[in-house]
Amino acid sequence: MSTVPFVLSSSENRAPGDREEAIAYFSMEIGIKAAIPTYSGGLGVLAGDTLRAAADLGMPIIGVTLLYRNGYFTQHLDAHGNQTESPTQWVPEDHLQPLTRRVSIEIEGRTVQVRAWRYLIEGIFGGHVNVLFLDTDLPENSDWDRALTNDLYGGDRHYRLCQEALLGLAGVEMLHALGIDGRLIYHMNEGHSALLALGLLERHTGARAPDTVSDDDIRAVRSHCVFTTHTPVPAGHDKFDWSLVTRVLGPRRARLLEDVGCRHDGQLNMTYLALRFSRHINGVALRHGEISADMFPDYPVHSITNGADTAMWTSQPFARLFDDQIPVWRQDNQYLRYALGIPLEDIQSAHREAKQDLLNEVARRTGQRLSPTALTMGFARRATEYKRADLLFADIERLKRMARRMGPLQILFAGKAHPRDEGGKQMIREVFEAAEELRGHVPVVYLEDYDMELAKFLVSGVDVWLNTPLKPHEASGTSGMKAAFNGVPSLSVLDGWWLEGHIEGITGWAIGDRDATSEPGQEIADLYDKLHHTVMPIYYDSPLEFARIRRYCIAYNGSFFNTQRMVRQYWKSAYHRVIAESPAEVD
Ligand SMILES: *Cc1c(COP(=O)(O)O)cnc(C)c1O
Repeated sequence: MSTVPFVLSSSENRAPGDREEAIAYFSMEIGIKAAIPTYSGGLGVLAGDTLRAAADLGMPIIGVTLLYRNGYFTQHLDAHGNQTESPTQWVPEDHLQPLTRRVSIEIEGRTVQVRAWRYLIEGIFGGHVNVLFLDTDLPENSDWDRALTNDLYGGDRHYRLCQEALLGLAGVEMLHALGIDGRLIYHMNEGHSALLALGLLERHTGARAPDTVSDDDIRAVRSHCVFTTHTPVPAGHDKFDWSLVTRVLGPRRARLLEDVGCRHDGQLNMTYLALRFSRHINGVALRHGEISADMFPDYPVHSITNGADTAMWTSQPFARLFDDQIPVWRQDNQYLRYALGIPLEDIQSAHREAKQDLLNEVARRTGQRLSPTALTMGFARRATEYKRADLLFADIERLKRMARRMGPLQILFAGKAHPRDEGGKQMIREVFEAAEELRGHVPVVYLEDYDMELAKFLVSGVDVWLNTPLKPHEASGTSGMKAAFNGVPSLSVLDGWWLEGHIEGITGWAIGDRDATSEPGQEIADLYDKLHHTVMPIYYDSPLEFARIRRYCIAYNGSFFNTQRMVRQYWKSAYHRVIAESPAEVD
């Protein structure tokens, strides 16, 4: 095995402390922070949290994504919950450093020039992780090509395939141009970046005719690739008609893809492309791994359960408490287990402070003053049908009754619907309608423009984190993990990560059973019964018992559902295994 340096080779592009890069992490969206709005939801936030944990662990990894000058979008809601969108204003220069290297790729027979911007994530021990944001907004490109990196999940299928070609093909080219290639491991975070396999195959086979590509060539590429699937339902997988593939990628590449077995039902299915070219494949929670293995029986699908970045998602009051009582928690999140020894009064006062910070933020944004003592539930995530934001409102009269008998209840919502997701937009309107019906009984506030900043207020400041997805759609979910770091228990349908994180009455409460599919009627009944007879009585009658539950959330779930643990698992079972078993060079 030869050693190849993985450094950013050009000295002008190097930051002090730059070091070897051995893993290239490709993701259609990466959420670094709210001020860099290049993410839409859980997938992008997971990518950012992954790279942050890797920086903390000193892992050699580089992130690759697209720039998105319009961000995802800024959400506006009128009095009835009708959503409209506008581009998010942000200035890349304020956050990112432009690199001078250019690469070009062919799209529809045109040469498209691509540059990259760099963000440097600094880890706690001085480790650095570079994130590259690819950008086509260059004067050499046509107006249409210049707009290719404007919108995340915007445009039509044609626009999307062009973007995925950029991410995969220009991403591989850019790493090569920067001297960061050789024995790299390429990690595809969801199928959007699967065309990177085509880029690697082309580099490997050079000018040879497509029909000379052999199984050995495929194996050579496969030995470098890792794929994480996030989509538990067949309809969710990214597909493109073959005519579009031929038009965008050109006949030669289309032919190559066909010759290596990547045409299915007249389409290019990005998941199958990624599966075919990956040495290691995993789902994002144990149940999701099983579901994916059933969906793709020809492939060995493993599971690595997601996490979230503890330092990123722990509120100030709890971070201070942990710094004081568990000083090593930042270096190694496993020590959050020792939260079991933190006095309950300290847990209570940290939460009280986080809750007040949230309520102040709600007042600042909406003018509404909510009660610091009322049981406050939070529900925030992408607004889309399967997340069922309306499930809690199945019986408005019973909610009113519960608030009257058991104690006051108030509920905070947030979440953007994709501009073309009519079902998601309808969900938001239904929450607004329920809020109207509950007026004077149960305050319901829908906060506009959900992003990472608002998410941090919500996951740390509410008393109970509610999650009611339709099973088995929630591959993992991560917001409940962020809540756990802050001592906020979940009341959730048993899907995704909650099947692993749930201990009844200890880390929160289950809605429904462990079956793979939902029974909405049973789930609604269970949700109301748990709230009425378990959660509200503990909250109002046994505050120390509630504080003990908070403490268990931190100790049991904070110590495990973090990206430090997750990244170590990737290192050991996905990246390291690939390195050990694949001496072949790609180029
Ligand atoms: C964590 C996070 C998500 C993911 O939430 P889920 O509960 O996993 O759906 C989505 N959006 C933002 C802004 C987040 O911070």
